[in-house]
Amino acid sequence: MKGASNPPPNWRDGKLKLGIKVRVAAWLASEVGEGNTFTREQLHVAFPGATQVERRMRDLREHGWEIDIARMADGVHMRLVKIGEPIWSPEGRLVAKRQIRTSAVRRSAILRRDNYVCTSCGVSAGEPHLDAQNLLARLSVRHLVSLAEGGTDRPENLVTICDRCNLGEVSIPSVNREEAARQIQDLSMQHKTVLLAWMARGERTPSPLDRAWAMFRHLDPDGRKEVVRVLAEAIERLAGEDATT
Ligand SMILES: [Zn+2]
Repeated sequence: MKGASNPPPNWRDGKLKLGIKVRVAAWLASEVGEGNTFTREQLHVAFPGATQVERRMRDLREHGWEIDIARMADGVHMRLVKIGEPIWSPEGRLVAKRQIRTSAVRRSAILRRDNYVCTSCGVSAGEPHLDAQNLLARLSVRHLVSLAEGGTDRPENLVTICDRCNLGEVSIPSVNREEAARQIQDLSMQHKTVLLAWMARGERTPSPLDRAWAMFRHLDPDGRKEVVRVLAEAIERLAGEDATT
C-alpha cells in the first residue's frame, strides 16, 4: 500500500484547509480502510453539506483508488478495494496533478471522437434532455467495463454519455407510428436521403453545423463570448459587403 509511508492527515481538521477530495481520501484511508465496505449514508454523515462528495470520491479513481459502488435493493453499498496515490502528501499531489492532466487530455479526445454528444440519446452538453425538458444535460466520459471489473483506460473502453443515460433514467415517450410517417413524408428529398442513411447506420451522423454547435456548448463562458463576438463581426462584415455591391 502506497499510503503506508504517507499517513493520511486528520480529515476532520478544518485548519488544514484541505480540498474535499483530499479529505475524502483521508477519511477512506483512516476510517474505512482497504478491503472494507461503507454506505452512502456514512459518507454523507462524515461530510455533511458537501453536495459533490460522491463525485469527488469517484474522482479519486483517477489517482489509482479503486472503489466499488453497488446499487442494491436496500441502498448503495461501496467498498474501498484499493488505496491509491496518497494525494495529501506533496509527492502524491504532484503525481495527482499529472494524472488529472492526462485524464483531461484523454477525456477531451473521447468527447471529440463522439462529436460532443451522448452516444446513447444524442443530447449535447447544456441542452434540455429529450424526455425531461426542464433538465439540462451534462456529458461525462465513462468506462464501458469499469476499472474494478478489469476495464482499461483505452479509448475503446471509453464512451461519452449524458447524466440521465448514465443513471439509466432516460425514457423516450412512445411515438405514434402514423404521426412519425407523416413527419418523414413531409421532409425534402435531400433530408429523406440523409435520414435513410442514419436509419441504416443506426445512428445519427452529425452535420458540420451540429458539430460546431456541440463544440460551442463545450467552451468555457469566456470562450463562448469570444466565439460569438467573432462570428457576429464576420456576419456584420459580410452584410456590409453585400450592401455596398
Ligand atoms: Zn443520453
